[in-house]
Amino acid sequence: MTHHRIGVMGGSFDPIHNGHLVAASEVAHRFDLDRVLFSPTGLAWRKTAEHAASAELRYLMTVVATAADARFDVTRVDIDRQGPTYTVDTLRDLQAQFVQEHPDDTASWFFITGADALADIVAWRDPDQILAHAHLIGVTRPGHELADPGLPAGAATLVEVPALAISSTDIRARVGRGEPIRYLVPAGVQHLIAKHGLYAAPQP
Ligand code: ATP
Ligand code: MG
Repeated sequence: MTHHRIGVMGGSFDPIHNGHLVAASEVAHRFDLDRVLFSPTGLAWRKTAEHAASAELRYLMTVVATAADARFDVTRVDIDRQGPTYTVDTLRDLQAQFVQEHPDDTASWFFITGADALADIVAWRDPDQILAHAHLIGVTRPGHELADPGLPAGAATLVEVPALAISSTDIRARVGRGEPIRYLVPAGVQHLIAKHGLYAAPQP
């Protein structure tokens, strides 16, 4: 029997950028995780679809961005499920998959979110359901205050990660304005954005 320590990072990853990768890498190191699973959302339940890349291209960019890191993997559970993505479904599906693939093993689950998304989970979703499946890890993010949003004691850990003031929104806007995104995203992601002409329309 093996015990696994698995991190999960959900996001629209439209596109994935170095801020996501640094946060996941730092948490993997600090919490001694064997794996971090990146899960691109199906429909982003609070986001407009305007100027968004397709689920398949977001998935592809996430695969390319994580390919060189042995700890990182990408899951399709959210993009293969119909309808908007809820974190509790992500965790439930991944845990069911884990039991199928490793019937004799056990696992500890960690859900990694930036400061903004941590506040969102508490404001918009039922955090108890999520907490039944995973320990929450809130990471610092420039421009957002990281504070315990009133979760039960021990339910969440706040972690300081190297600050990268990068957002997918800003990257889409930069592409729309013809500004460079080199060094903000992995080179392969930059190439996919150019190859598929993503985010080329001016952003509102
Ligand atoms: P958008 O601007 O489209 O919302 P985003 O940059 O916020 O994109 P998401 O895919 O929404 O990226 O975020 C996925 C997860 O990564 C969220 O938990 C978010 O808080 C976290 N995250 C995103 N960017 C950073 C960053 N620069 N530093 C730390 N965490 C981040
Ligand atoms: Mg976001």
